[in-house]
Amino acid sequence: MENPRGLLEIEVSRAFEADRGCPQCYLRDESGRRYIHWTLHEYVNDGSFRARFRDAFGMCPRHWELMIAEDDVLGNAILLEALALQVSNRLREASEMAKGLSASGTTRRKRKRSLDVVLPDVVHRDLCPACRVEITSEDGYLSTMGSMIADGTVDIHTAGSNLCFDHIIKTAKYLPSHLYGNLLQVSSEQTLRMAQDMGRLVDAVRPGVLPSGLAQDALKQVIRALSLPTNQARQ
Ligand SMILES: [Zn+2]
Ligand SMILES: [Zn+2]
Repeated sequence: MENPRGLLEIEVSRAFEADRGCPQCYLRDESGRRYIHWTLHEYVNDGSFRARFRDAFGMCPRHWELMIAEDDVLGNAILLEALALQVSNRLREASEMAKGLSASGTTRRKRKRSLDVVLPDVVHRDLCPACRVEITSEDGYLSTMGSMIADGTVDIHTAGSNLCFDHIIKTAKYLPSHLYGNLLQVSSEQTLRMAQDMGRLVDAVRPGVLPSGLAQDALKQVIRALSLPTNQARQ
């Protein structure tokens, strides 16, 4: 039987072979997608999932979209009923608290803080449960890839030319610095090629002309490769 490390190595190798943009983005997104799938089929009534879902006040917009795409109206409706009841109750309680706060002489700063007083669990809510799963699995995949680069199972050239900017940054933790230096060099050269591609696109399209589907794809590819995440920060 394969140990978990072996299984992770197989997944990392397959992600490099899949040729779907950054292999680490692919693995991370897949772990979120698997979680969404199993959530709807197995965990909708599971106590620990329900608690996480409640403490996060539902899911982030990206994962709600995946939930809806699963086409399970019953599962989604069960979760949304619970969320709507929770939100309605909290808004009612907060309304009573807000009315009770002294309105006289409140400064702008005090008013700003009142959200923290009446709805502290919303302000400090937990991360979306699916984002949390993605972050945990990302750590495992990155550390596996780091070992695979170090022992030569993953070619540093392949890694440097396929990883997005975000995952190049995140790989720093998992590689000795001389190898990380090589990885950064490959990535820098790859990004220069993207700049040159964009330069050719700039020359090819006239100003004000909407890009064709092919050009749209090229733009999206560069955006994906260079975007740093903001949506996974604590919401
Ligand atoms: Zn990535
Ligand atoms: Zn999420």
